[in-house]
Amino acid sequence: MAEKVFEERELILELFPGTSPELLPPGEVLYYRDSVGWVHIQEDPLHLILEPLDSTPSTAPVICEACLRHQRRANAQFFRFGVGENPRHYRYVVLCRDTESCTGSARPQRLREILLRGILP
Ligand SMILES: [Zn+2]
Repeated sequence: MAEKVFEERELILELFPGTSPELLPPGEVLYYRDSVGWVHIQEDPLHLILEPLDSTPSTAPVICEACLRHQRRANAQFFRFGVGENPRHYRYVVLCRDTESCTGSARPQRLREILLRGILP
């Protein structure tokens, strides 16, 4: 079943390469942290790279935007990512510091929303 969805996505991309990412059928969403600490959210052909930011002294609990769990500040981290073509236009997101644990709880739909925020103006 899932395989069929992937085929449909690939087919549409091939036939209509300009299709807005919002309109594509869902693909496989990858969410991981690389060896230098940057977080990647990827759904081919889209790829969002999130830059980790230094934590602020505040201790207020926050909600991870990917898995929607409440996190103590020490277990969460702020990230920023560039939007569209403008290199100075950033959006910010709070995610679990432990990306691996977050990946297990994050819904693909939430990840897709974050991804689209970086792609669509
Ligand atoms: Zn999380």
